[in-house]
Amino acid sequence: MTSPAQRVAYLDNAATTPLRPEVAEAMAPFGSARFGNPSGSHSLARDARLALEEAREVVAEALGAAPAEVVFTSGGTEADNLAILGTLGAQGPVESGGAVVCSAVEHAAVLEPCRAAAKGLARVNGVPPIEVREAPVDADGAVVVDALEELLGPEVLLVSVMLANNEVGTLQPLDEVAAVVRKHAPRAVLHTDAVQAAGWLDVAECALSADLVSVSAHKLGGPKGTGALVVRAPVAIEPILYGGGQERERRSGTHDVAGAVGLATALRAGGAGRESEGARVRDLRDRLADGLLKSLDCASESADRARVLPGHCHLRFAGVEQEELLMLLDQDGVAAAGGAACASGALEPSHVLRAMGVPPDEARSAVRFSLGHATTVEDVDHALAVVPGAVSRLLG
Ligand code: PLP
Repeated sequence: MTSPAQRVAYLDNAATTPLRPEVAEAMAPFGSARFGNPSGSHSLARDARLALEEAREVVAEALGAAPAEVVFTSGGTEADNLAILGTLGAQGPVESGGAVVCSAVEHAAVLEPCRAAAKGLARVNGVPPIEVREAPVDADGAVVVDALEELLGPEVLLVSVMLANNEVGTLQPLDEVAAVVRKHAPRAVLHTDAVQAAGWLDVAECALSADLVSVSAHKLGGPKGTGALVVRAPVAIEPILYGGGQERERRSGTHDVAGAVGLATALRAGGAGRESEGARVRDLRDRLADGLLKSLDCASESADRARVLPGHCHLRFAGVEQEELLMLLDQDGVAAAGGAACASGALEPSHVLRAMGVPPDEARSAVRFSLGHATTVEDVDHALAVVPGAVSRLLG
């Protein structure tokens, strides 16, 4: 552990980002004076409803949707689960042979509900067992569209391909995927998990070809526990949470007004300086990657830099154990990650690297440095000062 006074270069922005100051400011009144429940009818409630609907308009515009197409959720995980289980639930009883197609590098929030549905465990609305088909990716982690095309057919109910990968940052060819889905799987709803991409790309443009789009506020300078699913008309989904039906019967639960305002403010702030911020962070990422590749012979990049998000720097250090390196880096004030942040830690080799064809021992030497809106050149230079020494110590 680092001591509280020690400098910490936070390079784990793909796991979560610090709150943007303007987001904290915009949210503050909803934790105090403007605390009303937007489903009520008195003036405090109406005030909250106004703020919620204003936030919805901003989120809708940022995501290229109509306000009525935005469903507020408790984050990216719920948005993904709602997309998958909600779509399957809305299909009604499927005679037999229904299938879901997703890329092999989807986040667990997509893969697990697909697998649960396949096992018949997802009994929401009587979802019947379905087959899950995983499309392979190339060595950079991008889905192979020709191979995905082979998995399509009239029995496919849902296709889910993320906009950009959370571990290596690779952008996915969503428009090409959409073209083959529309051609060969006319029944399929197309979902994209834009949770990582939304901090960097114009989702309104990049995810236009998808019917369902998931985002999460805490990956883009907003609060944790808030996200949204775009459900483009006329696509229908069944809820996975039942209750008061607050989100036009697609999701129940008292609205998190502060969270919705935080998501809207974060999306607006990110959109305002997107190009210059992307270029700034890309330069910092290149400085970090180039510096480490130059000083460490054992270092290599996991994916072609031209194909990944600006903030992702995913490196492998041959002969080094990821867990040991991350511990040393933490002691020296560098916060990085082994891959996806998940409850179990990163002891299993990542499914993303496995799908990219990386052998398990190499996969265990991988570290993800992810930069974000608050990353400075000092952070990068601190990492450049610390990482080579830590790696050398481990290599003995
Ligand atoms: N999808 C992707 C690609 C992610 O990176 C994450 C978070 O790591 C999620 C979904 C889950 O989002 P949340 O943390 O808001 O539940």
